[in-house]
Amino acid sequence: MTTPIQIMPSSATPKKPQVQVQKEDAMLLQKELINRNYHELATAHAMGRKVSATFVPGNLNELLMCFDLARSLPETNALQNGMRKKSGKMIMDAERDGHSEDVCTYVKADLGMMLGGEVGPTGEALPRPDVLLLSYTGCFTFMKWFELVRQKYDCETLMLHVPYQGEGKINSAMRTYVVKQLREKVIPGLERITGVKFDIDRLRQYMRESQKAEDNLVKVLQSAKQRPSPIDGYFGAVYYIGPIFTAFRGTPEATRYYEVLWEEVQQRMREGKGPVTPEGGIAEEKYRLVVEGPPNWTHFRDFWKMFSDEGAVVVASTYSKVGGVYDFGFRHDADRPLESLAEYCLGCYTNLNFPQRIDMICRYMDEYQADGLLINSIKSCNSFSAGQLLILREVEKRTGKPAAFIETDLVDPRYFSAANVKNRLESYFQMIKQKKAAH
Ligand code: SF4
Repeated sequence: MTTPIQIMPSSATPKKPQVQVQKEDAMLLQKELINRNYHELATAHAMGRKVSATFVPGNLNELLMCFDLARSLPETNALQNGMRKKSGKMIMDAERDGHSEDVCTYVKADLGMMLGGEVGPTGEALPRPDVLLLSYTGCFTFMKWFELVRQKYDCETLMLHVPYQGEGKINSAMRTYVVKQLREKVIPGLERITGVKFDIDRLRQYMRESQKAEDNLVKVLQSAKQRPSPIDGYFGAVYYIGPIFTAFRGTPEATRYYEVLWEEVQQRMREGKGPVTPEGGIAEEKYRLVVEGPPNWTHFRDFWKMFSDEGAVVVASTYSKVGGVYDFGFRHDADRPLESLAEYCLGCYTNLNFPQRIDMICRYMDEYQADGLLINSIKSCNSFSAGQLLILREVEKRTGKPAAFIETDLVDPRYFSAANVKNRLESYFQMIKQKKAAH
């Protein structure tokens, strides 16, 4: 389950000159960041740099930067390939190589990419990782995925075991356990593999930058409490979380990106405008939704259009928290660097239990004045699909708002049935309309 993507095409920008210019600033910045990271990865070994791979939830980007590592995020590579319509073949190649139809399609897209010559989404080569940093935050597939990659490349693996929040809270023993592993296993391992001595002041400096970016990201996401919402908190938010959930959290470039983005969103708020979609602005905000589950990437624009055509705006989503839950107060803290990294991993959305996920959704329904909950259940994500119907029923019961369930997949184009999804959505919007009319 995971994140970020390249920027919206420039044709998606609105026509008002001043806003367009500001919008282009954030877009250009993000595009530059993402492309630059793929280029850094492609040239890392030639430049004498080591390469790490790590998953988005629980990623220790600030720590990895302390060791001069170029940073690859496998789920991001898979989703980028999905958006570029390249993942279908990769998945089928992985299936021909023996991986079952039910395996998470991020995994198969990644393995298929390796089988196809390790060419990354932008067409540049993706290097073999020198270290797999497995920050284990709740999905069992993470572990199996890296086991397969390790088997293929025989690369070093460092495991950070993050205890699950089974009781719905983080206690000091859990924090101490994670910090101990960082001190005794992860940091010495990274020093040995890279030959770079750990400097805690360098880590603190990156964390100061992280905090600034996190503050602005939260402001952007919470702007959706306004009516009309100036952003789409799901389809639009996957662009906004791009830099901070991947290789840029902790860099001044990410800080700058979120400053520019926040300025743009404030401008839209002042003008009373709704979100910008790839097809242009939304004429009228008719439905405000909360969404649980990641989007489908292979038909991303079509999927979004099914909402925007109907005036449906997603005001909050759980997916936009998958690389860090910042809106309930957590920030990377330079004064407690290792403890704060531990709390970040422990607090990841993937590491939350059912009651916490239900509470989170109910809170969003209330604070963002949503009309309903939509669950996009991902066929091949066994970790997160389990229990989603239970979540749906409980949220309906507590909020009295209608909920609906659709099923797609992340990056397997065979599991996106546009007609079915559109029908379901249209009936759901009708249901919301009737409910609203009855009140
Ligand atoms: S099973 Fe789900 S949570 Fe796990 S890696 Fe795949 S998409 Fe992510």
